[in-house]
Amino acid sequence: MKAKSRSYQHSTEMLAGLRAGLGAGCAAHGLRGHRLAHSRTTEKLQREYDAVVIGAGHNGLVAAAYLQQAGLRTAVLEKRHVLGGAAVTEEIVPGFKFSRASYLLSLLRPQIYTELELQRHGLRVLPRDPYSFTPLLEDRSPPRSLLMGHDMAQTQRQIAQFSQKDAQAYPKYEVFMGRLVSAINPLLDAPPADTAALGQGSLLQRLRALWPLLQAGLALGRQLPHFYEVLTAPISKILDHWFESEPLKATLATDAVIGAMSSPHTPGGGYVLLHHVMGELEGRRGAWGYVAGGMGALSQAIARAAATYGAHIFTEQAVCRVLLGSDGQAQGVVMQDGTEVRSKVVLSNASPQLTFLELTPQERLPEDFVRRIQQLDTRSPVTKINGGCFVAVSHSSRPMIELCIPSALDPGLAPPGCHVVSLFTQYTPYELAGGQPWDEKARNAYADTVFDCIEAYAPGFKVSVIGRDILTPPDLERIFGLPGGNIFHGGMSLDQLYFTRPAPSYSTYQSPVPGLYLCGSGAHPGGGVMGAAGRNAAQVVLRDFRRLRWQR
Ligand SMILES: Cc1cc2nc3c(=O)[nH]c(=O)nc-3n(C[C@H](O)[C@H](O)[C@H](O)COP(=O)(O)OP(=O)(O)OC[C@H]3O[C@@H](n4cnc5c(N)ncnc54)[C@H](O)[C@@H]3O)c2cc1C
Repeated sequence: MKAKSRSYQHSTEMLAGLRAGLGAGCAAHGLRGHRLAHSRTTEKLQREYDAVVIGAGHNGLVAAAYLQQAGLRTAVLEKRHVLGGAAVTEEIVPGFKFSRASYLLSLLRPQIYTELELQRHGLRVLPRDPYSFTPLLEDRSPPRSLLMGHDMAQTQRQIAQFSQKDAQAYPKYEVFMGRLVSAINPLLDAPPADTAALGQGSLLQRLRALWPLLQAGLALGRQLPHFYEVLTAPISKILDHWFESEPLKATLATDAVIGAMSSPHTPGGGYVLLHHVMGELEGRRGAWGYVAGGMGALSQAIARAAATYGAHIFTEQAVCRVLLGSDGQAQGVVMQDGTEVRSKVVLSNASPQLTFLELTPQERLPEDFVRRIQQLDTRSPVTKINGGCFVAVSHSSRPMIELCIPSALDPGLAPPGCHVVSLFTQYTPYELAGGQPWDEKARNAYADTVFDCIEAYAPGFKVSVIGRDILTPPDLERIFGLPGGNIFHGGMSLDQLYFTRPAPSYSTYQSPVPGLYLCGSGAHPGGGVMGAAGRNAAQVVLRDFRRLRWQR
């Protein structure tokens, strides 16, 4: 990195302006929605559709694309000025384009690439190989580091610096994890087993409801107890079983704590780890990469697919309320100025908390359901820092930091000679000790702590930074609508997955309100840029829609 000095002041002022400009929620925006620039014509928001999707996160856009493709007239209403939710590209520092929230792609379900023809709609991915570099602060010269990539022999040589035994074990560990992932993969692409169906019908019908789980169990075979252990044990125990060297274990353990207010010693971290190795990129399992143009380019590609099928997609359209008929059925949505947009079904890409605690009349929901949504665990440790650089508290004093420089592979993100840096950091609570607010002072103090840590490994880093965007949990909540700042719309702990996401008996995208569905990360299979919730929800809606039409 080449170093040049500039003050941070400019970025702080600019960000304050930006936040003021965005507004928050309904009060800020009326019905002056902007049609997606690249869509066919300049249609206005109509008063009636078959389906309305609240929110244009990538899941909402995926759901809209499938619904419209199947022939449902679909509108997507997004409250922000930009599409994509937590999968966006924003120019926070002039001339520098940031994947402002999510920044790495792997988890997007492979069917979605092909079924929505995302490549044709402009998606280009830039695989990362090597994919991980763990530098060590050591007294020896030069200090060692661990570089891991898809060349297994090369990765084994890297691991062997620390342990020959681990170098031998690593390919076996990869095969073991790969088997677990292959076995549970089909569970991601379908709604969870419908527990209501278990209590009725013939034995065969009941078994059919359990079929996805049985299939996964059969695929695991004799590995089932090992899978059970990975799911339930602390990841430190699993990694101690396989390996002895700390740099390797620390590198692998990171995937088990991403986005979770837990440590590698917390039971149940194994699922979070599996969740982060279950993706693939260009056919390579577990590979991660950047989206050319930033994560927003993925959302744009999905939006383009949806618009090509005929969906209407609007930004700056905040939904205030789900409209319910006297029969309790969802009938559309109500906008800020009281205008109603009617529809036969409503899908919400917003979090379960926003959907059921703010947008749905409480008296129309079962008390027990409301309590469950209120009690969802949304604790989140994540603070994201986006920085542009000239390159060549009660929070963690030595934070966990994942540093990426996407412009190394995608130079168009920054002006010539410059880079964008993404810092995904943990652990920062939503509320600081003693109730101290996350004001500018506290945020800058935390960012300085992070920068000091990086400086120790990469001298000159600090003075190279010309602007930074600090997103603490309250910022993530306010800007992106992520409850508690939780990057997954709710913790991915075992008690909040599959049958119970977001609540027991409501895991199949339907809600207590007929015609109102969840289609975002708060539903199965959870967070990450996967598109699975949007695709699965669309399947359920289409099935119900056909049944509804047939009955009428
Ligand atoms: C800092 C950070 C880093 C991350 N890194 C990664 C990563 O590298 N890779 C990865 O795979 N995942 C990552 N994630 C997780 C991933 O980004 C999210 O889980 C995923 O993008 C959520 O998608 P979604 O479509 O379900 O919901 P969201 O993206 O949250 O979309 C919901 C949308 O609904 C809109 N909305 C809410 N209320 C209303 C309303 N009343 N009216 C209209 N619109 C409304 C919101 O504005 C938003 O656009 C990260 C997340 C964060 C925050």
